[in-house]
Amino acid sequence: MCRIRPVSINIMGIPYQMEYVREPIIQDGATCGGQIDFWNRKIKIAETPNAEDMFQTILHEVLHGIANAVHMEMDENSTDILAGVIMDTFCRNGWIKEDEE
Ligand SMILES: [Zn+2]
Repeated sequence: MCRIRPVSINIMGIPYQMEYVREPIIQDGATCGGQIDFWNRKIKIAETPNAEDMFQTILHEVLHGIANAVHMEMDENSTDILAGVIMDTFCRNGWIKEDEE
């Protein structure tokens, strides 16, 4: 798995700064792996030992950013499912490869 760790990402013309933290992120009393702040244009990602899990979380937050940019309603469950199937598609097609360590 390649370790894709963007420092910033442009979503539909809106630049977001990425931040990686060592602890899980608490939001509304629940633990989550990532968080997007539309106001401050920041995406926070909790580092995980598994690079694939972490990249899927990045995809999840990017999907929130896309939905927000195009004013599309997308609930948490749909966002999770889409992030999972996009990740699966990338892996199946060799766009994301396993590390040869
Ligand atoms: Zn979410």
